[in-house]
Amino acid sequence: MNDLSQETKARFIQHCPVGCAAPLLPTAIRLPEGELLCCAECRQWISQASRQRYGDSMREFDTEQGTAPDAASLQRRHALAAQRIERLARLAGREPRTLRLLDVGCSSGAFLEAARTLQVPARGVEPAPAAAAGARAKGLDVVTGTLDQAAFEPGSFDAVTLFEVIEHLQDPLSLAHDVFRVLRPGGVWLVGTANAASWTAALMGARWQYLQIESHGGHVSFFNPGSIATLAARSGFTVERIDTRNVRAFERGQAPSSVYTLAKLGTELLSPLARAAGRGHDMLAWLRKPEATQAG
Ligand SMILES: [Zn+2]
Repeated sequence: MNDLSQETKARFIQHCPVGCAAPLLPTAIRLPEGELLCCAECRQWISQASRQRYGDSMREFDTEQGTAPDAASLQRRHALAAQRIERLARLAGREPRTLRLLDVGCSSGAFLEAARTLQVPARGVEPAPAAAAGARAKGLDVVTGTLDQAAFEPGSFDAVTLFEVIEHLQDPLSLAHDVFRVLRPGGVWLVGTANAASWTAALMGARWQYLQIESHGGHVSFFNPGSIATLAARSGFTVERIDTRNVRAFERGQAPSSVYTLAKLGTELLSPLARAAGRGHDMLAWLRKPEATQAG
């Protein structure tokens, strides 16, 4: 076997992506790539997907359409995006119209389109070339590449958003340092990802679709509120707050429709409790670059 094939078969993530020196221990959750691993220090879950599997699963999702929502959910998504932008503006002490916003991993620009309706001067950066081209075709200001490659001036943004991206990264700590650099002091970083310490993860385990690389290309690293806070601390950010919401017991099709419907009702009732306990599966971390910092 040559070196190249050895390399593509190697596990994509070798060490805790949050930067812990602790060992990665097997969990009871068995995926097609092997058991999920768990960092003994921050409890981050890590997939055993190979470089090859990871690369293939990411390419499947690079289309011009990108992660654009379907028409039915578009209105709901826009309303949610508007809420988030208004909160970011408040936290950053700006009016939305003057909020210098950067969406990292913007795909074909669904969030940026919502920002445009609020007249936010927003930009995007996206490494997948077809998705980035799709965003530019809509007249959005999007650079193809990683945040590092985009080489924005230090301190050029009041707010940075990162939705459904951090669970794809081999080295999120390095991205966190890049975000820190492009934010002005006092600027806000919003990270959206799933919560591996959620009741949904506990109820569903390997059935949870979020963990499946074949339905969610490139998902290999699963955060919890503690590991996000650790990542923030290690890159110079303070935590404003970490919100979680939603509980699910079955994916559609995993149970007879009557059971699915009952379970859906039950988990909707649990949702406010999950939110209060920090055990929902949708997680938003609101992080801040401190006002007085050393050069970053
Ligand atoms: Zn860790």
